[in-house]
Amino acid sequence: MHYFEYKKGELYCERVPVSRIAQQVGTPFYLYSYRTLVRHFKVFNEAFEGIPHLVCYSMKANSNLALIRLFVNLGGGVDVVSGGELYRALKAGADPQKIVFSGVGKKEDEIEYALKASILMFNVESSMELRTINEVAGRMNRKAPISIRVNPDIDARTHPYITTGMKQNKFGIDILRAPMAYRLASELPNLKVMGIDCHLGSQLVDVEPFVEALKKLKSLVDDLRREGMEIRYLDLGGGLGITYNDEEPPHPYEYASNILEEIRSFNCTLILEPGRVIVGNAGILVSRVLYTKENEEKRFIIVDAAMNDLVRPSYYGSFHQILPVREEAREEIVADVVGPICESADFLAKGRKMPRPNPGELITVMSAGAYGFSMATNYNSRPRVAEVLVRDDEIHVIRKREEYEDLVRGEEIPEFLRDNSKFQSSNVK
Ligand SMILES: *Cc1c(COP(=O)(O)O)cnc(C)c1O
Repeated sequence: MHYFEYKKGELYCERVPVSRIAQQVGTPFYLYSYRTLVRHFKVFNEAFEGIPHLVCYSMKANSNLALIRLFVNLGGGVDVVSGGELYRALKAGADPQKIVFSGVGKKEDEIEYALKASILMFNVESSMELRTINEVAGRMNRKAPISIRVNPDIDARTHPYITTGMKQNKFGIDILRAPMAYRLASELPNLKVMGIDCHLGSQLVDVEPFVEALKKLKSLVDDLRREGMEIRYLDLGGGLGITYNDEEPPHPYEYASNILEEIRSFNCTLILEPGRVIVGNAGILVSRVLYTKENEEKRFIIVDAAMNDLVRPSYYGSFHQILPVREEAREEIVADVVGPICESADFLAKGRKMPRPNPGELITVMSAGAYGFSMATNYNSRPRVAEVLVRDDEIHVIRKREEYEDLVRGEEIPEFLRDNSKFQSSNVK
């Protein structure tokens, strides 16, 4: 459910024609719908009404300050995975007591930063990390709140790059070794055990893996409680999938009701870390067709957005629907939609059946709100694109398009390279 719709043959975001925004900010740009974002967050959050819970938006899906602030305003917390994300979360006004810090490779300075900020807890992924956090906390005269991220060895049945809860993945502590890690954590003087955590992967389209994981976690918590450990939080991570093409993921209500059934009388606060399901279908990437060309075998649509703007098709082979901004009757063709980057992996769609686009016209890549801009790079020295938030009939630029100057910020030519004549003479050996 989203608010990108055709009205009289024109694609609108809420009450604004997409073409008007293109006129104003140029192309390409990311476009988010405020109403859609609010709706997605609220539906997800309300699905868990009835038990104590905290929705920590997983900001790596889309880390724009405006979006974080929007979810913070709705009572959300944030799941961060780096010092940089923590900085953004705080800058956006997130309540530190609603921030959880995940990730396999937290550095000492990041741990220190998070302790200073008084975050809710660290999701710890190894025994060595427990020791490091204990040390840093000791140095600062603090007690570090921690959960242990357990790897429940469950097949999330999604793309291998976004499966995280199996033995062969780098994430979490093997569930069989977890009790040992908990014993270590409760012996270390500067740690405070708060709960248990897991995250199975991303774009899951079945509820079964979640329920299976929850059952495993519950039985582990029962054991830990018998040993006298206090487990107050159970964090089930994120990972609920969305419809890109023909996937049929469970509605948040269905997802929640399956989880609630398991956990209602379990006496803990549930934490959820949704990313994609909140922002994925609330954003699109708008681009302009530059050229079309064909040979005996193939037809190419060359557009001004590329893999540096949206890497998912190249990286995961992901499907994104591509639609013309102006809807009209036209011939169906099969084509590759490609960007200007000098890589054959630079495509947004391959062998796609689509209405024939004309040079100069606008197209949109749908479902691009998650892992779109947040994975964008400057490859081929392409300035990162603008991000726009539409609310009703208002257009808000929430990140302006980068300029050429931004591309070289921080770079420097060392003194010894600057004098061309010296360089040539010293180069002759
Ligand atoms: C990426 C990630 C999430 C969010 O995953 P989605 O599939 O976007 O919901 C949640 N928790 C952790 C630890 C993650 O790494």
